[in-house]
Amino acid sequence: MASSAVVIGGGIGGLGAAIGLSQAGWQVTVLERAPEFRPVGAGVVLQANGLRCLDALGVGAAVRHDGCPDRSGGTRTADGRWLARVEAGRLEETLGTPAYGIHRAALHNILLDALPGDVTVRTGAQVTSVTADGQVNWQGPDGPARLDADLVVGADGIRSTVRKQLWPDAADPVHVGVTAWRGIAPEWPDDLVVAITWDRGAEFGIVPLPDGRVYWYGCVNAAPGTAPAELDPRFASWHDPIPALVAATPTVLRDELMCLDEPLPTYVNGRVVLLGDAAHAMTPNLGQGANQALEDAVVLAAVAADPDGLAAYDRQRRPRSQQVAKASRMIGRFGQQLTNPLAVASRNTLIRLTPPRLALRSMARYADWRPVAR
Ligand SMILES: Cc1cc2nc3c(=O)[nH]c(=O)nc-3n(C[C@H](O)[C@H](O)[C@H](O)COP(=O)(O)OP(=O)(O)OC[C@H]3O[C@@H](n4cnc5c(N)ncnc54)[C@H](O)[C@@H]3O)c2cc1C
Repeated sequence: MASSAVVIGGGIGGLGAAIGLSQAGWQVTVLERAPEFRPVGAGVVLQANGLRCLDALGVGAAVRHDGCPDRSGGTRTADGRWLARVEAGRLEETLGTPAYGIHRAALHNILLDALPGDVTVRTGAQVTSVTADGQVNWQGPDGPARLDADLVVGADGIRSTVRKQLWPDAADPVHVGVTAWRGIAPEWPDDLVVAITWDRGAEFGIVPLPDGRVYWYGCVNAAPGTAPAELDPRFASWHDPIPALVAATPTVLRDELMCLDEPLPTYVNGRVVLLGDAAHAMTPNLGQGANQALEDAVVLAAVAADPDGLAAYDRQRRPRSQQVAKASRMIGRFGQQLTNPLAVASRNTLIRLTPPRLALRSMARYADWRPVAR
């Protein structure tokens, strides 16, 4: 009989793991607390590493079809001057593929559709407790229930119940001191390129989607509970098309950014592993959180059945994901969060003077990862 795996959480990481484990012969059940999968969220950027994982899971072509390749772009100041530009095709030249912007709902649907038929998905299933020997207790629409599994995957996000229970010494996620607003603007008349704009303690990002719509986000430094419910008003005076994009957006999501600041000493406890944000929730500055979750999923699926598979998962995933998380936090501090005018001016000069090839290489190095072929 096939070994059984319970995946807790049906986000990008959990669904990626469910597809990979099922393809590797596991009998998989996904438990998701939301009553149904609804098209929520704004956009996400998938980089070379994440795209290669999606290829390994068999959904790369669908993602490229529903996503928009980021072929050029760069960094600007609030008045619209370019600090650095990425020439069209350069990222592709460096990494073999452009990054792709995609609506989260589209990515989620692709992953859901790719779940093999023998995967059981239970929505409205809130996991309440987990033991290291594989017992999972959950509360479903019909009351409490229990599953026993050979492998339990805690893919339950930054506020992971699994981590809280089985990693009791782990520090809680911390506020980064930044609030982010995100939205999808309707079909846009002009051709836009992927670009971020920096000012003191603030960043705005533009990511075109394939159907002409535009994913955007704005971030500002703000202590928890202090940022306005609506997008911070400073963006109204930033360069075109920022004010117009915001004005055209029907729904705006707001999040106070958090991350796991203290790296976990292990991602494995008995038969239970942590994956994605549950293991290494990171700031979005490198755009790597979901990409790292996909790396976790593909590595776990490749090694989990081996005699020392879970130890191998920990060995392969922990150093890399924690290094990326650390770099992302540092880039946030050096980029969006910087407020001192002198420091901002020096940073901008540095960016202006850095040869584009060098800048691209240093950005690209985190995305330059590929799964080992099974
Ligand atoms: C503003 C912003 C922009 C970002 N942009 C990017 C980007 O461009 N590129 C990128 O790679 N990453 C980006 N990220 C990060 C990325 O969104 C996350 O890293 C990624 O979604 C994590 O996926 P996950 O599956 O680990 O967790 P989640 O997406 O949080 O999924 C966890 C799932 O578990 C479920 N769950 C939780 N508790 C339970 C329970 N007890 N029982 C059952 N189910 C449970 C939840 O309902 C949820 O569905 C961004 C993040 C933010 C905040």
